[in-house]
Amino acid sequence: MQNLSSNTFVNNFTESFEGDQSGSLQPRQTPGVLYSKVMPSPVRAPQLLAWTEDLAAALGISIPNEKDIALLGGNFVNPTMQPYAACYAGHQFGNWAGQLGDGRAITLGEWPLSSGNSWELQLKGAGMTPYSRRADGRAVLRSSVREYLMSEAMHHLGVPTTRALSLVATGDQVRRDMFYDGRPANEPGAIVMRAAPSFLRFGNFEMLAARKEYDHLRQLADWTIEHFYPHIKGEDKILTWFKEVLEKTATMVVEWLRVGFVHGVMNTDNMSILGLTIDYGPFSFLDAYDPNFSPNTTDHPGLRYAFGKQHSIAYWNLGCLANAIAPLFEDTTELVKTLENFAPVFYEKYYAMKAGKMGLDEVKGYDIELIDQFENLLATLQPDMTIFYQLLIELPEDLRDEQAITAYFMPALYDQLSSSERELLSKNIKDYQTRMALNKTSKAAAQSQMRTNNPRFILRNFLLYQAIQELEKGEDALFKRLQAALQDPYSRDHDEFFGLRPAWANEQPGSATLSCSS
Ligand code: AMP
Ligand code: MG
Repeated sequence: MQNLSSNTFVNNFTESFEGDQSGSLQPRQTPGVLYSKVMPSPVRAPQLLAWTEDLAAALGISIPNEKDIALLGGNFVNPTMQPYAACYAGHQFGNWAGQLGDGRAITLGEWPLSSGNSWELQLKGAGMTPYSRRADGRAVLRSSVREYLMSEAMHHLGVPTTRALSLVATGDQVRRDMFYDGRPANEPGAIVMRAAPSFLRFGNFEMLAARKEYDHLRQLADWTIEHFYPHIKGEDKILTWFKEVLEKTATMVVEWLRVGFVHGVMNTDNMSILGLTIDYGPFSFLDAYDPNFSPNTTDHPGLRYAFGKQHSIAYWNLGCLANAIAPLFEDTTELVKTLENFAPVFYEKYYAMKAGKMGLDEVKGYDIELIDQFENLLATLQPDMTIFYQLLIELPEDLRDEQAITAYFMPALYDQLSSSERELLSKNIKDYQTRMALNKTSKAAAQSQMRTNNPRFILRNFLLYQAIQELEKGEDALFKRLQAALQDPYSRDHDEFFGLRPAWANEQPGSATLSCSS
């Protein structure tokens, strides 16, 4: 175990690539380099609000002392660190946005592990970088709490994600116009230390392709493969790598659909090259099952990033990545074929996931139809997704008439059902019962399969909202209870949080609706 402030960092990325070494904070385009050297800007009074013990233990990092806390707040940098902001581009809401880059994330360096690998440690909200454009490089407490808790919640749900090691209040105020409606206000600032093997995004590759820096592009692809896909070797390695990125991305989205997660801003600069959930902003879990739901008010005209569209956006984003790496191919036929294979790759994973949630022992015969009908049922009735599946686990085998079935699922419903909806529910549940009787495995086995695939605790936006309201008043009781619950999302031990979203939260800004302002 080592302290963060001890001289243990390595800097493979900065030592492998060209960077802008000027250290200037002047907002600018940085052609010809993959990053810009930048120091975190000090804050007034860093105070540790949360520390992720299990992650720290896994990385071999000791409990923070005063110097470490200064480091987590951006007030201390040791000589083994070469802090930088990465230069990347992206497609935002379907349009090419050009250079973006880490506008408020500063990577301090890589933390070496005993395995020989390393993890990138990054401060989010540690001040301006050359990529801050007209913004301040800071983050507010509310968005930092959301990222801190949600990335950990996703990890414990078993969803591929970046992690968060610490949450630090800065003691400074940050000015934000939360809903872009001309009413800016001061809010407390905070910094999250994020951790992942790498924060490289599709956008890092898109930037180099757009600038026609093909040597850098090849170098970055090779480096990514060497470090994070080391088993890929040989002549076709770029193609094999793209195939694996596609598979990981498909898996990530299937996992989002399993737990009911809406990312909210699936721009290509927010797509990890490792298939990790990255850049937690205006995300939400589904309460009511609505495939057209997006919590992101910035996305409300077109609902591009709604829950049920996430797989098609992933495919679109993979198309951008394929385009970016195309110059590395003499012949792109196989690359295009691999991209066009997204749907079968995705749907195989998707139906297996749905079967897991429903307790089917395999996907055979009419199962795809049954699963599709179930999907239609949920989209029509819009029950609470989490509660619905919890009830499904305990569904009594003898429940066969419409009235009894409707009554059984009442605790999951936000609205009264019409007679046609009751009929639909009853028909689907009866079909489901008939299919479950064909399982070759026992009922107990099906139930335990369902329990491992259906979380009982999800970090609902209204809970986050309440925890943030309390934290802004200096109380951390709810924050702590949520932190405990999210570590154990499949158990019944945190049933104080098991229930429908309360009515007050339906329209509450900051809970039901969120913007990109963070
Ligand atoms: P996001 O939608 O949060 O992924 O951010 C998109 C881009 O805006 C990225 O380049 C961010 O670094 C940048 N950005 C977002 N918020 C800020 C901020 N407060 N200061 C500087 N850059 C920011
Ligand atoms: Mg981003």
